[in-house]
Amino acid sequence: EVVKPTNFLRQIIEADLDKGSYAQRHWGGSPGDAQHHQQGPVDQAKIRTRFPPEPNGYLHVGHAKAICLNFGLARDFGGVCHLRFDDTNPEKEDQEYVDGIIDAVRWLGFDWKDPSGEQNLYYASNYFDFMHRCAVYLIEQGLAYVDEQSAEEMKANRGDFTRPGVNSPFRDRSVAENLQRFADMKEGKLPDGAAVLRAKIDMTAPNINLRDPAIYRVRHAEHHNTGNQWCIYPMYTFAHPIEDAYEHITHSICTLEFEDQRPFYDWLLDHLRAGGLIDAPQPRQYEFSRLNLTYVITSKRKLKHLVDNQLVSGWDDPRMPTVVGLRRRGYTPASIRNFCERIGVTKDYAWIDYATLDGCLREDLENQAHRAMVVLDPVKLELSNWAEVFGSADHLEACSLPALPHPAEGQIAPERHFTLGREVWIEREDFAEVPPKGYKRLFPGNKVRLKGGYVIECTGCEKDADGVITKVLATVVPDTKSGTPGADSVKVKAAITWVGVADGVQAEVRLYDRLFTDPQPDAGGKDFLALLNPESLKVVTAYVEPSLKTAQPDDKFQFERFGYFVADRHDHRSDKPVFNKITGLKDSWGK
Ligand code: ATP
Ligand code: MG
Ligand code: MG
Repeated sequence: EVVKPTNFLRQIIEADLDKGSYAQRHWGGSPGDAQHHQQGPVDQAKIRTRFPPEPNGYLHVGHAKAICLNFGLARDFGGVCHLRFDDTNPEKEDQEYVDGIIDAVRWLGFDWKDPSGEQNLYYASNYFDFMHRCAVYLIEQGLAYVDEQSAEEMKANRGDFTRPGVNSPFRDRSVAENLQRFADMKEGKLPDGAAVLRAKIDMTAPNINLRDPAIYRVRHAEHHNTGNQWCIYPMYTFAHPIEDAYEHITHSICTLEFEDQRPFYDWLLDHLRAGGLIDAPQPRQYEFSRLNLTYVITSKRKLKHLVDNQLVSGWDDPRMPTVVGLRRRGYTPASIRNFCERIGVTKDYAWIDYATLDGCLREDLENQAHRAMVVLDPVKLELSNWAEVFGSADHLEACSLPALPHPAEGQIAPERHFTLGREVWIEREDFAEVPPKGYKRLFPGNKVRLKGGYVIECTGCEKDADGVITKVLATVVPDTKSGTPGADSVKVKAAITWVGVADGVQAEVRLYDRLFTDPQPDAGGKDFLALLNPESLKVVTAYVEPSLKTAQPDDKFQFERFGYFVADRHDHRSDKPVFNKITGLKDSWGK
């Protein structure tokens, strides 16, 4: 079933391009004072989008949606997408996060390079001078004032949904006085919180965001890029539109929480445009609904809490919905891109079923991931007539199976080689001393096939003093080897997976499950910490077939009957293999 994904932004962009909205740009010419004029990239009739993370954490699957959306639209419409670090907040930002974000965007398969070679990687903090100039312009036009009310007064005087706000006593200061006080703020003469610069709009506006929003604040803090150069910092709502305009963004796409900010976005850019500070056409903001994924939290703050309190092993714990976590878990860039494409872009509030992401992963790996047999819960099985049938107890019978059952045309599908000997590892659950109804695997008197090997007949088992089964006993049925003419001479109802004791490799297998027990751990003020799944990680010592000896970190496999696994990118070594479970063969999220 092919469902065409919805993305209402495509229609908007198509219409804009049809109108020739970007054809007559006069960028590079210089309206207004060249010294004060923006200096962003200059070019012609193409769209520009941007992905503007704040470098205060690692990116998560919600950001992946925004990345695929913004970079995807630019790619599909012959435009450019900027990667912009929205680093206007001095305290929380860190180079570690900057590097992590760059890695994540690259790994997802996107590039901020223009075909012309232009590197569209930007830091909002590089525009602090320009933002300051814009603030001074607003003051000069009587459109901004320095407010020295206390934070409490300001809050009380803002009003709320039921009542209009009240003008600040500082609202009618003269332009000259405002310029002076703003300079005092900038020169460090005022302590943190003593004053803010506010846009002068309308304290009675029904949209509270238009009730003289704060646009600059005093913060004596060192910034990771500008050091101690500034002690005033622009507020996000002021900085963001200016960043967009400075970079000549055409479509500024954000999540729905910002819908109420759009009137201010336009108010600000209209004024800056009128003053010749920014170019036409000015950027337009469009909102879409954020990704909500079942069993997942997409709040950087809460994810950071899990990391800081060691509830997970780090930002890249395979249970984390971060891009580094998904990567380590074994999700492929293509599976994440397809997922983002499939869920579409709308304005509806919805929760996407986690199974959708797993479906995309299976689709991507089905014809790529080599098959392998592993035994996750091993018990030894001994073929007691082995020496009799093959002439020696040590005889090893060479066996093989294709690495891919349905190779595509031209696809190389090697054979996997392994051996069958007198002793093999089988799954504990594949033997039952007393078989439950309908059980088709090993029980005394029943025959099964060792997949890719021989038919065997179960004869019994050995137990320790506690009654725990220590060994399953069987006999091999001669002349029934898979792929030989006698293979079908004995009919069996089941083929079981196994690994030879002689050539099996011990491996650590990390069985991951959902991190939360509740499908919406982040909704409606729930205590997400109380909803952590205590069984989200189970580590087992398994035996895996010898073809996995050459596995490299990040290599993905389908472990027959169990699902998709990946060699852990940090801990896997050929002499100490570690595999992570990505997902099962079938959807188990709904159960
Ligand atoms: P968080 O709330 O997790 O801290 P954020 O929105 O504050 O995320 P930013 O770094 O500001 O983090 O986000 C960069 C971009 O990613 C923004 O444009 C934002 O709209 C987008 N984004 C963040 N979360 C999601 C989500 N769940 N779904 C879609 N887009 C998202
Ligand atoms: Mg943010
Ligand atoms: Mg946020």
